[in-house]
Amino acid sequence: MLLEQFGGANGELAAAMQYSVQGLNCDDPDRKDLLMDIGTEELSHLEVVGTLARLHLKPTKADRDAAHADPLIAIAGGGGVSLFNSMGNPWTADYLKITGELDVDLRSNIAAEARAKIVYERLIDFTDDRGTIDALQFLMTREITHMKAFTIALESMGKPMFSIGRIPPTPELARQYFNDSTGVGDRGEPDVRAPWNQGDGWEFVEAPAFQELQSELAGTRTIAEGNGDGAASSHKRVNPGKAGVKK
Ligand code: MN
Ligand code: MN
Repeated sequence: MLLEQFGGANGELAAAMQYSVQGLNCDDPDRKDLLMDIGTEELSHLEVVGTLARLHLKPTKADRDAAHADPLIAIAGGGGVSLFNSMGNPWTADYLKITGELDVDLRSNIAAEARAKIVYERLIDFTDDRGTIDALQFLMTREITHMKAFTIALESMGKPMFSIGRIPPTPELARQYFNDSTGVGDRGEPDVRAPWNQGDGWEFVEAPAFQELQSELAGTRTIAEGNGDGAASSHKRVNPGKAGVKK
């Protein structure tokens, strides 16, 4: 399990390489310093988690019962760590998110720190070894610190939240929310109206794929009257003529 943070997608090597290489590509000297600082710290985390994994794996080299817990580590790896994740997949540079666009990279880093945090939380949940918990609590805490630093670095760039790159999006298309999962589902799943699709400049577009169709069978479904459980047989079809654009 610990190998997930050694050679896994959200592990310490991936974090160290992602931030360091982003830093090499960064023309902003202030944020380059941040990326190189945290990238270097992640390498120290690789040492911590590798040492910890090694402590747990070492008995598998000589002890047959311990080896039974992970025969491949015992036979092929001699009880040592290697750059694999918890499922035995080799570490790969494909894990890295490096776009060459600083604000986009910072967003990736904020998400990467959140993923690392939750993996450490799960690792803590699966052990009762006091020393291991102390080490994992330290590593987990630092990811929150990094997430905070990356977030503030992004905010301090002063870019509007939805401004990415140089080319502006097409305004009338950008504000449209497509209601593609139309009507009520077989188990009564609702069509939700919420801040992410109404008010504040949103335009709600009903079933865009059906708008050009003439078929009576196309359209949105609703729960039949008097049957609130949304059973599969209870839906009726709504004429596509009723579909359209609502504000
Ligand atoms: Mn880390
Ligand atoms: Mn981190």
